[in-house]
Amino acid sequence: MRPQRTIGKEIFFEGKGLHSGCHSSVLITPAPVNTGIVFYKAGSGAIPIKASIYNVVETAFATTIESQGIKIKTIEHLLAAIGGLGIDNLFITVEGPEIPILDGSSTIFSGMLLEAGIIKQNRSIEYLKIKRPIVYEDYNSRIIALPYNGYCISYYINFNNKFLSQQELTIEITEKSFITEIAPARTFGFLKDVETLRKNGLAKGGSLDNAIVIGDEGILNPEGLRFSDEFVRHKILDSMGDILLAGRPIIGHIIFEKAGHTANINFLRKLLSSTEHFTIITDSPVYEADSTVLNLISVK
Ligand SMILES: [Zn+2]
Repeated sequence: MRPQRTIGKEIFFEGKGLHSGCHSSVLITPAPVNTGIVFYKAGSGAIPIKASIYNVVETAFATTIESQGIKIKTIEHLLAAIGGLGIDNLFITVEGPEIPILDGSSTIFSGMLLEAGIIKQNRSIEYLKIKRPIVYEDYNSRIIALPYNGYCISYYINFNNKFLSQQELTIEITEKSFITEIAPARTFGFLKDVETLRKNGLAKGGSLDNAIVIGDEGILNPEGLRFSDEFVRHKILDSMGDILLAGRPIIGHIIFEKAGHTANINFLRKLLSSTEHFTIITDSPVYEADSTVLNLISVK
């Protein structure tokens, strides 16, 4: 069994939203057991917006949650860091429309969470364990979840672009592998799409400081890539942010083929729609072992 976790002290940060281009600030505070990850929007009363697939209202180019008309956009990179570090209970108050994009990855979020310290709480976490294979398919994507004694993600992308065609990666997700292999991978886009995105009110805050941009001659970022397969790693990061919205960490192997936020959320809704494919458990020797690594890293 692994205890639920929160953070040791509050975190404050601010920055520009990737899509809105607006300045936002975020205050993350510790929360009691069984809270989950709960957002509030500053100045909108005390309306809680739980990080849950049932509160997702938009999935085009970012994941947006809403409750009683109050929306928070682009939550996935922050949620990936929270899920990747196995943090279960937090209050997150956002002033502005969107979580700041920072450097386009989850590294800064992860660093701040580790710096705040990860605190064990006196209740064990429940896992959602895949017990039977399940397949989700739409016109473009396929997602398969298989029983597996751990948390493994495989991802395949193919953009049919000279500089970004096929990439695939399978990775055993632990706190350590998340921090070193997945969290640093930045969001990306194609220069040819930027104008259309901006006309549609998206990517207004995007720049080479917070995204990898692929132009006609290759990658525009002067610093280059952080990994040769940074793109597929970022897709894994995005999927981890969305998976957190299932409400419980998953034990299983999930295989994504050309998926995005829409497919991710539809897949999770299908998975959770009946107990045919999963069971709720508290025993997980895999995670027990890994929390030792996290305590070492968090230096608390
Ligand atoms: Zn992303």
